[in-house]
Amino acid sequence: MSTEQSAALFERARTVTPGGVNSPVRAFAAVGGTPRFMRSASGAWLTDVDGHDYVDLVCSWGPMLLGHAHPEVQAAIAAAIARGTSYGTPTEPEVELAEEIVSRTPAEQVRFVSSGTEATMSAIRLARGFTGRDVVVKFAGCYHGHVDSLLASAGSGVATLRGSQAHTPGRPLSVPGTAGVPAGSAAETIVLPYNDRDAVTEAFAQYGTRIACLVTEAVPGNMGVVPPAPGFNSFLAQTCREHGALFISDEVMTGFRATREGGWGLDGAIEGWVPDLMTFGKVMGGGFPAAAFGGRSDVMAHLAPEGPVYQAGTLSGNPIATTAGLATLQLATDEVYERLDATAATIRSAVAEALTAAGVPHVVQHAGTMFSVFFREGAVRDYSEAGAQDTATYAAFFHSMLDQGVYLPPSAFECWFVSAAHDDRAVSAILDALPSAATAAATARTTGA
Ligand SMILES: *Cc1c(COP(=O)(O)O)cnc(C)c1O
Repeated sequence: MSTEQSAALFERARTVTPGGVNSPVRAFAAVGGTPRFMRSASGAWLTDVDGHDYVDLVCSWGPMLLGHAHPEVQAAIAAAIARGTSYGTPTEPEVELAEEIVSRTPAEQVRFVSSGTEATMSAIRLARGFTGRDVVVKFAGCYHGHVDSLLASAGSGVATLRGSQAHTPGRPLSVPGTAGVPAGSAAETIVLPYNDRDAVTEAFAQYGTRIACLVTEAVPGNMGVVPPAPGFNSFLAQTCREHGALFISDEVMTGFRATREGGWGLDGAIEGWVPDLMTFGKVMGGGFPAAAFGGRSDVMAHLAPEGPVYQAGTLSGNPIATTAGLATLQLATDEVYERLDATAATIRSAVAEALTAAGVPHVVQHAGTMFSVFFREGAVRDYSEAGAQDTATYAAFFHSMLDQGVYLPPSAFECWFVSAAHDDRAVSAILDALPSAATAAATARTTGA
């Protein structure tokens, strides 16, 4: 497969942009090879600058729930653009999109921002402002955008917790997870292993009066899909309530994707608990930079201009973005979710079948329409188990699929996304490519190639 044009663009890009990309995973560092520069997309398909078509299993990392360039969404966007692109005033589409989100989720009010990062950053500031406390609890392997305090790694705090010794005052709870994060930001963050109730109980027993909030992905999808153990989210909500901390459910990935009601539709809606705050992004922007945070109206009342917690955005609630998001959600009917469920199930079992036939250890995990494939044996319940997989085997599998015209996430730690536009032709293309990709994976495993 010729990648001449992509390679040329990548070279130019690297001159003017660090690593040649505007978000690291796009650089293919985890799988090697030349990142494909895409020229256009339609339905389930991407077309690159060398003219190759790919069935898309990334879907812009989740947003394209209906597929690319959906005619009705495109028409709504075109009509909105014809009316101007940004006014810096309130507009009707913002109200309609907020109403749609409030109608599908337990959030009573929402505030729009422009990225998921901004949504979690703002939700955390609000939780701190509301509770008058500073400490944030998160789980290893959950990603909440590149917010300073959430790019923390478990430090001595957790080691201390594990030993059940008293924490030394002034000692940081966690350490920066990347260069550039001030130690002070990470110091106020506690990082715990996912699905570990004891760790949560211990952290709250020790720091409960200082904890402003616990933030978790509704279903973790950023270490691959790692579903919460039954009752885990309910336990988190309950623990937060007991200690006067807020429970923040990050639904940036799961929102309007895992189910019609997001990740909450898989447990909260059934078990009868609600998060204090939630964050949304991806699908709700219909392919534009739009995100939101929301929740209890008494908490949201603490936001400016009603309350003392400052938060703002020049392009927040942008009329084109909110129009695209609204059109997407209005078209995302129960039938669409049934279709996504069925398509995801077909692909999941075909992947498992092909890898089994080739003798490649794997486990496929899912939550609603979201799923991912781990190249290891045995269920994955937390980040350390997600990390114990064979990434070199995944790279071989990925490249074989890519060569056969299937675009998978260029990292073993990512969720696979389908759209309602994945029809029989698209699904067949995936199924046809699987056996030889599984063979390539098996060969890489045995030769270490
Ligand atoms: C993608 C994602 C974010 C960050 O959203 P951006 O729009 O990339 O800033 C936050 N939380 C979760 C769960 C996500 O999947």
